[in-house]
Amino acid sequence: MAEILVVAEHRKQSLADVSLEMLTKGRHLADQVSAELLAVVIGKDVNRYGPRLAQWADKVLAVKNDQLEDSQAEPYQKTLAPIIKERKPKLVLIGHSSFGMDLAPALAVDVGAPLATDCTNIAIDNGTITVTRAIYNGKVNALYSFAPSETLIVTGRPGEFLVEEGQKGGSIEEIEYLLDEEFDYKRFEGYIEPEVSEVDITKAEVLIAVGRGIKDKGNIELAEELASALGGVLACSRPVVDYGWLPSGHQVGLSGKTVKPKLYLALGISGAFQHMVGLRGSNMIVAINKDAKAPIFADADYGIVDDILKVIPILTQRINDLKS
Ligand SMILES: Cc1cc2nc3c(=O)[nH]c(=O)nc-3n(C[C@H](O)[C@H](O)[C@H](O)COP(=O)(O)OP(=O)(O)OC[C@H]3O[C@@H](n4cnc5c(N)ncnc54)[C@H](O)[C@@H]3O)c2cc1C
Repeated sequence: MAEILVVAEHRKQSLADVSLEMLTKGRHLADQVSAELLAVVIGKDVNRYGPRLAQWADKVLAVKNDQLEDSQAEPYQKTLAPIIKERKPKLVLIGHSSFGMDLAPALAVDVGAPLATDCTNIAIDNGTITVTRAIYNGKVNALYSFAPSETLIVTGRPGEFLVEEGQKGGSIEEIEYLLDEEFDYKRFEGYIEPEVSEVDITKAEVLIAVGRGIKDKGNIELAEELASALGGVLACSRPVVDYGWLPSGHQVGLSGKTVKPKLYLALGISGAFQHMVGLRGSNMIVAINKDAKAPIFADADYGIVDDILKVIPILTQRINDLKS
């Protein structure tokens, strides 16, 4: 296999975490099959990303284009398609972010390549590329093997691939690429920042997650106090968002966010698979649930079978006592 290509996404002058995840995965696969890893980044001031990408890549192609402030799917597609057609990488890795979801299908059609989206694993065995995807709302993990083709495009689910700092120190080639087309069927208008109160649960090391078992919006305060004692951040299951007890940015799971904290403390959460798929990357799961048969205990490292409304204040008090 000659080349694996990773498309680097950037926004507001920083690389997307999922691109670093794809680079780490790409590096492992490239080493395994003795391929070269190529990272492609496109935009204004692309040279700022070169050294970081070169940590993993054998070669970074920094395509400078002053028309492109941030990653935008259509100009990326127009720029990437000729690069892919010319270089014919065996595998193209793109993060399954909103940008990646926008870019990958159009790019696949443009270059005539098969596409596998939202993959949770990518493997190469005897030259055959196999990806894992969750189907039936996450109930089943399906493996797909691809018949040999010139290029396969894969998008990887954010948070499913670990980032390991790379040591490669590859070369950086900067090229100018001027797009002479107007892009007007879809125009970038600007970013809408999340509300100031919203936190990024994907970056938190300690998550205190509340489920329907918390019973009432007023009881969220108990979990907040525990989170503050532990230096953690509040997360939740879907019913908590549906009831309007917490904003949607706190939801973990299939239709929420994928998290990978050091500690995931689940309070009154049953452990439905749609919730659990979002926290598989946690280092330690601790569950408190009054039902000893709750499915979450099958995944938890530690568990307490009791009423959370009784346990949470005691836990908060103990932690605060220990701290003082
Ligand atoms: C397409 C689809 C996507 C979905 N996406 C998501 C998603 O992204 N995230 C998500 O979370 N869900 C998602 N769901 C919903 C999911 O199937 C579950 O319904 C949901 O996760 C259940 O949330 P829960 O565990 O808080 O509530 P329940 O399943 O109702 O569990 C509540 C738990 O609290 C315990 N409990 C009750 N009172 C107490 C108490 N006083 N003390 C201790 N324990 C107590 C109960 O024993 C029970 O185990 C999705 C569903 C579908 C169909």
